[in-house]
Amino acid sequence: METTAAADEVVGICRDLLRIDTTNTGDPRTTVGERVAAEYVAAKLTDAGIEVELHESAPKRANLIARIPGVDRSRGALLVHGHLDVVPADASEWSVDPFSGEEKDGYLWGRGAIDMKDFDAMMLAVVRDWARTGYVPPRDIVLCYTADEEAGMQYGSQWLVENHREKFEGCTEAVGEVGGYSYTVNDDLRLYLVQTAEKGLDWLRLHATGRPGHGSFIHDDNAVTNLAEAVSRVGHHRFPTVVTPTVRAFLEQVGDALHIDIDPAEPELAIAKLGPIANLIGATIRNTANPTRLEAGYKDNVIPGRASATIDCRTLPGEADSFLAALRDLIGPDIEIEHVHQQPAVETSFDGALVDAMGAALRAEDPGARTVPYLMSGGTDAKAFSTLGIRCFGFAPLRLPADLNFASLFHGIDERVPVEGLKFGVRVLDRLLRNS
Ligand SMILES: [Zn+2]
Repeated sequence: METTAAADEVVGICRDLLRIDTTNTGDPRTTVGERVAAEYVAAKLTDAGIEVELHESAPKRANLIARIPGVDRSRGALLVHGHLDVVPADASEWSVDPFSGEEKDGYLWGRGAIDMKDFDAMMLAVVRDWARTGYVPPRDIVLCYTADEEAGMQYGSQWLVENHREKFEGCTEAVGEVGGYSYTVNDDLRLYLVQTAEKGLDWLRLHATGRPGHGSFIHDDNAVTNLAEAVSRVGHHRFPTVVTPTVRAFLEQVGDALHIDIDPAEPELAIAKLGPIANLIGATIRNTANPTRLEAGYKDNVIPGRASATIDCRTLPGEADSFLAALRDLIGPDIEIEHVHQQPAVETSFDGALVDAMGAALRAEDPGARTVPYLMSGGTDAKAFSTLGIRCFGFAPLRLPADLNFASLFHGIDERVPVEGLKFGVRVLDRLLRNS
């Protein structure tokens, strides 16, 4: 296999990043390391002669931006972004120290290995190689390393687009997580899933009220009972299937690749035919509403006047309003709905020169590669960047061993990235950016 300077360097950079604990607990008081990691990235870029800017949204919550001028500066710029924070890891559950960056069995182990210090390292390795060799990309590349992706983006991408939107001036497309990884069909065929859409998120708090009273009396207006009935209706409800353009394209293309007859009008049947790959998109054919928290009462023999519950809602692109109307019907008129946190769904089409370049870059390194668009049920920094009118793609290329359960590694125990996959990713990213 051909090796490049970037492919040689990426493993060391990824290891360094894994050794910087950037745990984002969701509480700014206990969130650590984002500034240290951003300074590490800044030093690596400065060392290569690339100018960087660090922007702190709050003490130690650092975001980094660097613009690499391209040959044709009149073209729209390409944003390449990665977050530096990680979710917490409980060392007692791991087979290695989650912040050791240990290399064994062909993997680099550590929290963030695939989410997403692998891609953070690839970005650095590619542009450092360009700087060393004097390579100038066809158009401007804006590199962005964010804080706080794992806890709502308030101190990261969201803050950047609210406070420094001028830094993204002229960006027409973006590449970040979660996509570009392989799913092996057989020796000659690997599907690489490119994320073109994300579900929206709506955390709702339901507030029920009733007449407070003594627990020993007959009582017909109990806030706890009123709330429980509504929560039960929501929890047991299955919203109807909706096939968005991305899911339709996914089903058709996967069906074609696997030589399976797929009818997108029957999405549940279609998905059932897909085998293990079904897990990836099971939640992407309908809106969901899952009750997650309950709160009421302060004493065993007192009926409280108020009770509340949280519902975690995930909506398909274009479905937010009709979903909310259906949920309102389900909950009934007497319960108040509070919007605690909202992030819109995003979707872009799977076409254009950049999409073609993704396929070409993958096939150059893996002749059995075939790209397929998909809708992800979770959310990423793409939610913030797409509000600037940027077309966002999840494409952090990784060729994975056929037997690796990749999805379970996200926020999972023993998160790890294959070393060869990392080197593969660098070569693909380099090709993509050179031909974008
Ligand atoms: Zn991530």
